[in-house]
Amino acid sequence: MSSHAPRIAIVGAAGRMGRTLVNAVTQDPDAILAAGIVESGSSLAGADLGELAGLGKLGVVASDSLGAVLDDVDVLIDFTAPQVTLSNLALCAEHGKAIVIGTTGLSDAEIATLDGYRDRVPMVFAPNMSVGVNLTLKLLETAAKALGDEGYDIEVIESHHRHKVDAPSGTALKMGEVMADALERPLKEYGVFERVGQCGPRTDKEIGFATVRAGDIVGEHTVMFATEGERIEITHKASSRMTFAKGAVRAARWVSGREAGRYDMQDVLELK
Ligand code: NAD
Repeated sequence: MSSHAPRIAIVGAAGRMGRTLVNAVTQDPDAILAAGIVESGSSLAGADLGELAGLGKLGVVASDSLGAVLDDVDVLIDFTAPQVTLSNLALCAEHGKAIVIGTTGLSDAEIATLDGYRDRVPMVFAPNMSVGVNLTLKLLETAAKALGDEGYDIEVIESHHRHKVDAPSGTALKMGEVMADALERPLKEYGVFERVGQCGPRTDKEIGFATVRAGDIVGEHTVMFATEGERIEITHKASSRMTFAKGAVRAARWVSGREAGRYDMQDVLELK
């Protein structure tokens, strides 16, 4: 283990991503599992994090108070819910800690609040921490520049498990934003998120989104560029949450000790 291995607290340690993150941190020789936070009053407070994650005893127990463990931590990894993440950001600002934020579904106002911490907290905020998705974003930027103004219709189709609470996925929106920026078509104006009834034919410049929620799908995104005579599809399929968790731990190592700023996975992976 390197002497610079950051001490990591996982917030939402009992969640689907939280349990996978416990696994990912313990597999990483350059990261230390310092704490795991569960909801206040949860019956899981005091439980061994390894046992929660199905790994056997690790000797680190879940706490239901982030404030109580914060002094012993360098960086938080937070995959919870928007309001939880924002209150944790305030704690990071007060106590000089870094944070990796995987939470999705933030409203514009919530993103503005998050952004307000950029001068005080080193943070990585990314709707998708997988290396493959972040490379895909690069490919989409290139494809949109080459095809978007040449009569190719752009559609984003995403599928996730039945428990997901926000739609379209943060990743689908990020894909849309990357293409919208490349084509100078603001997503607020050109994004189409619903088609129902007599909605008329498609317009040339719209960027369409379609959502599937079913079963245990971990996360699949396809972007279609379709024109008369051909269709290009760029697809990413996640088959395990471990891909997001490993990316988040990599981001935690990268952001720990860095100066305050709002970073994303393109920064972490040096894809900019
Ligand atoms: P989940 O519902 O399984 O887990 C969320 C957990 O947060 C729950 O266990 C809940 O008890 C806990 N929680 C809520 N309030 C809390 C609090 N105040 N303190 C501590 N814990 C608290 O959901 P999930 O599938 O793990 O996803 C969580 C979030 O991560 C979602 O927004 C999802 O979209 C996002 N996500 C992001 C990525 C990425 O790569 N960025 C990948 C997968 C999921």
